Amino acid sequence: MILPFDRTATDPASRARRGSILTPHGRIETPVFMDVGTHAFVTNCAPADLAAIGTQVVLANTYHLMLRPGPEAFRQLGGIHQFMGWPGPVLTDSGGYQIFSLPGDRTITEKGARFKGYTNQQMLLLSPERSIEVQTAIGSDIMMVLDECVASTSDEATTRAAMERTHRWALRCLGARTHADQALFAIVQGGIVPGLRRQSAAFLAEHPFDGFAIGGLAVGDTRAQREDLTALSAELMPADRPRYLMGVGTPPDLLQAMLAGVDMFDCIIPTQLASQGTAFTSTGRVRLKRMQNAVSEARLDEQCGCATCRDFSRAYLHHLFKCREPLGPRLVSLHNLHYYHTLMADSRQAIERGTFAAYAKRQLDAIDRHEHSARRFGQT
Ligand SMILES: [Zn+2]
Repeated sequence: MILPFDRTATDPASRARRGSILTPHGRIETPVFMDVGTHAFVTNCAPADLAAIGTQVVLANTYHLMLRPGPEAFRQLGGIHQFMGWPGPVLTDSGGYQIFSLPGDRTITEKGARFKGYTNQQMLLLSPERSIEVQTAIGSDIMMVLDECVASTSDEATTRAAMERTHRWALRCLGARTHADQALFAIVQGGIVPGLRRQSAAFLAEHPFDGFAIGGLAVGDTRAQREDLTALSAELMPADRPRYLMGVGTPPDLLQAMLAGVDMFDCIIPTQLASQGTAFTSTGRVRLKRMQNAVSEARLDEQCGCATCRDFSRAYLHHLFKCREPLGPRLVSLHNLHYYHTLMADSRQAIERGTFAAYAKRQLDAIDRHEHSARRFGQT
């Protein structure tokens, strides 16, 4: 197998599992949260910062990187690790989701997606073969198949057609792979229709993919639908390969999906909310721009061991945001990512101890309690 995956422990009271994936750029301890570095950077954070807060994997995007700097730049510069100065594992998404979310100017046919590039306004084709060719040039450790994503609100016939095309494209991606050291994950689609999710997982599991992702969620579905479909999809995926829930990731989402046996996650939320001045803390979300923080000597999170919490008061962070100083989003991004990586490290330890179900329940209850009391006291 291209991507050795060892399962080292399972939680007795849930489907949660502890594992480790060996990539050409190092080992990934799972369950893992992957930092979003769409354009070959994690906004406001240098690779050395990421290493210090426990980042294991950076996730980049084929669609954006094929436009800028382009695959030729990666070929000349020795791949993404060298280019961005990140020595650890990199996963590249294929661009399917970006094609789906592009406004207007695109046509999707069996061949692939034709769209106008935002860097030079030229018409470009992103086909399954082209996506693999670009991901090969980027040099990621884990590549994703090109999929066709549709809104969760689409009718069943549209969802089925996109799922079937996703299957055909997945096999074309498998056939287009040229480098044996780059793993390839398939993406289970099927919208919010349980029968289609079952068909998709069953079809893809018959082929030699190195891992399986759950795609097409958080595109118009409810939290309850997301949890049910995640659990259903994860259960149908082969147990001996990693399972990845794409783009879904509030802390409760992660805990619920880990309970269902998901191993890998990514989400823009920790850095996106940081840029708006919102921090995840052990006592709920903190909005730093609020006036109540203006003269607060308190740390952002008394329980947190990150450099932001060690060195600065809430009042200073509030001041940075009021001055629109880029240091503000940077310090809060590092804190938020540290919070996520700590949640994952604690989860891994709880799975090893066989206490994860109880740990997850405590965490979920605490989050609900904080959100409830924040609403009650008008703190959010
Ligand atoms: Zn912190």
